[in-house]
Amino acid sequence: MTTTLPAEGIHETGGPERLSMRAARLHRVGEPMVIEEVDRPRATGTDVIVEVKACGMVPNLGNVLANWETWYPHEPLPPRPAIFGLDPVGIVHEVGEQVINLAPGDRVYVNPSRSCGACHPCASGRPQTCDYWTFAGYFGFNQNSLEMYDKYPYGGFCEYMKAPQSAIVKLSDNLDFRQATRLGYLGTAFSAVKKCGPLAGKTLIVNGASGTLGVGVTLVALALGVSRIFAVARGIPLLERLRAIAPARIEIFSNVEGSTAEWVRSRTGGLGADLMIDALGAVASLDDFKDAMLGVARGGRIVDIGGTAGELGVDVKWLMDEARELIGSAWFTTAESMELVDMIRYGVIDMSVLQPKAWPFEQINEAINGVTSGEGGFTSYLVEI
Ligand SMILES: [Zn+2]
Repeated sequence: MTTTLPAEGIHETGGPERLSMRAARLHRVGEPMVIEEVDRPRATGTDVIVEVKACGMVPNLGNVLANWETWYPHEPLPPRPAIFGLDPVGIVHEVGEQVINLAPGDRVYVNPSRSCGACHPCASGRPQTCDYWTFAGYFGFNQNSLEMYDKYPYGGFCEYMKAPQSAIVKLSDNLDFRQATRLGYLGTAFSAVKKCGPLAGKTLIVNGASGTLGVGVTLVALALGVSRIFAVARGIPLLERLRAIAPARIEIFSNVEGSTAEWVRSRTGGLGADLMIDALGAVASLDDFKDAMLGVARGGRIVDIGGTAGELGVDVKWLMDEARELIGSAWFTTAESMELVDMIRYGVIDMSVLQPKAWPFEQINEAINGVTSGEGGFTSYLVEI
């Protein structure tokens, strides 16, 4: 795959075009990424080539990659040398001969979700339950993902990436590339909020509210009409910032100061909240998850998107007797990200509270190590290619 010199070729539109590109590749976990020249992919069939302009940076990616294969040995990273990068945005550069609804010049987000496209779950619009489901540029969900990485070895930390047309989402004119790198986390939030059902008149606990997912959940739930949000996190300063988005509808609580369940029940006449979305991170305490869950009312629904791992110890009779539901929600569909972009297009969701923090491509290793948790979910971290 690696070439030593940038080759020159003739593009269909005339004029010379490089046949290689710059890509940041990880050769070994624990080492820095190396920017080097590799073969540039070309579009065939139903695939498109996107000229990447920016790509979201997963907070603390270096630490995540260093631990992933130990934490979750059944979920493979892409074979090294690998091009990571989960949330790419850019311009369609070239389309395969079978592509109909996309053209060079389109500004797009690339959903990193890859699946076989042909099984019953895929045909039903549920690619996350496909046995080949894989995050391009991040990790796979079982060994079948290695086959997907062979077909789609490109994350967003390179100049040109290949992706199937089914993964492409056209951006609205009022969504710039920097803000659009947030569509992965926002889409995950949106899909979870949709699983809550109609929100009008409802109350919602957002656990881990000040993080990247939690801020997204708050923005989407407010847009979709939730009446009250009980925002729970550790630190008060970020919670205060969150409450300022809608002071009449958001109440905040630091779970360092006591029990989330007791606080929510004290605010709801003892009943608890209708809904909860858990947005805690991978290394959070499950005690915090469980405590918040116990603040959900009879008939309530709990949706988990945060990535905390472990045995929760749920009393299933508590779930059954009072008709509660506990739902796992992974990522989102391309259709949901199209809906999300339309909500941004027409001002249903206001992105202005999110502040992009960008690094140039050449500083990708500084970017990986430069994401700090103190700024919380109001900052969108990204690399510009
Ligand atoms: Zn499938």
